[in-house]
Amino acid sequence: MVEVQLSPTARAGQPLTLGEATRERNAWIEIDLEATAANLQALRQWVGPDIEIIAVVKANAYGHGAAGIAPALEAAGAERFAVVWVAEAIALREAGITRPIIVLSHAFPGDAAAAVARDITLTVHSLELGRALSDAACAAGKTATVHVKADTGLHRFGVPPDEAVALAEALREMPGIDVEGLSTHMANADEADDGFSEVQGARFAAVAERLPWVRYRHTANSATAIRRGEFRYEGVRLGLSLHGILPPNTPGPALTPVLSLKARLARVAEVAPGDGVSYGLTWRAERPSRVGLVPVGYADGWKRSLSNRGEALVGGRRCPLVGRVAMDHFLVDVTGVPGAAEGDEVVLIGAQGRERITADDVARAAETISWDVLASLQTRLPRIFHRCGVVEGIG
Ligand SMILES: *Cc1c(COP(=O)(O)O)cnc(C)c1O
Repeated sequence: MVEVQLSPTARAGQPLTLGEATRERNAWIEIDLEATAANLQALRQWVGPDIEIIAVVKANAYGHGAAGIAPALEAAGAERFAVVWVAEAIALREAGITRPIIVLSHAFPGDAAAAVARDITLTVHSLELGRALSDAACAAGKTATVHVKADTGLHRFGVPPDEAVALAEALREMPGIDVEGLSTHMANADEADDGFSEVQGARFAAVAERLPWVRYRHTANSATAIRRGEFRYEGVRLGLSLHGILPPNTPGPALTPVLSLKARLARVAEVAPGDGVSYGLTWRAERPSRVGLVPVGYADGWKRSLSNRGEALVGGRRCPLVGRVAMDHFLVDVTGVPGAAEGDEVVLIGAQGRERITADDVARAAETISWDVLASLQTRLPRIFHRCGVVEGIG
């Protein structure tokens, strides 16, 4: 698990609380591991007990901190993991993950030995990569488990259907290779009209029918897994939903958001009518105002497109973001929060009092999607992993 740095105020042997762990931090991310486990159970109930959950923890587990999230998901019963880079898969093994890990996108022949040594499942797109894996596996006295991805219409990673069949059959003949899996990825899974999934699903089914000996098929991201039972096959690749957020247009089980993004006001300043704030002075006070300085900026992943848009919670109230988002700071208008002062907690994503700001709210204000808001969150922000407010690790 992630290293825990005890704060000076925490007494040795006593559980460290979130309050103690965050008292002297400018900004941080709270990760609720109870919520992660509960989301996994809720999604398992929804998709059915016989379908494996492949936890997609690419991009630092969508900004949640893969080294803390993945072990919690493994303990909660996730059967497999998926990432995009080989380096991400190696990092998961280093974090102690023992279950199968699938690399969903491109790998090089030079990655073969490392993948074989750590039992990492590559998605093979070429005979060259297959041969490198075969050689590495034979040299190590092991079997390399591989998947083949059919491009059924997204035109991203994968090989066209006919080539997928030929590639799988050629790989099957190579010593040391076990072609376990066949996959595809949907283009319109979370669109209001996901009808194209049926076209892709039919193309995938035709490939699968020609490869009846391939035993593990997976096609579904969160939206497809939740909406369309016929495309769940042996496993579903869940990313966003495990983190407690349903894709747009996708009614599903009740989930709990896992991530909160918080900060402490670094300063509260008086601004006179007509005065501007932040670079370019793009916002000017219309009345005597007080602005709170939030020590989070676009370098942390707080999008610059949130300039003069979006909100943060201070004193249990929604306060508008004013002026431009800078690299390390932005400002909120706290005129409506009389006692606001340096050190007060600011919630950028999450709940405070009776108010809540969701990743979807932030995405709407930034004109992007919740995946982008979360995956953008950078490593300068410490991740504080907790269960019911008791800290389990800081990474
Ligand atoms: C990211 C990704 C997923 C997970 O998608 P969610 O919508 O976050 O569940 C599944 N499959 C592939 C190929 C991906 O790249």
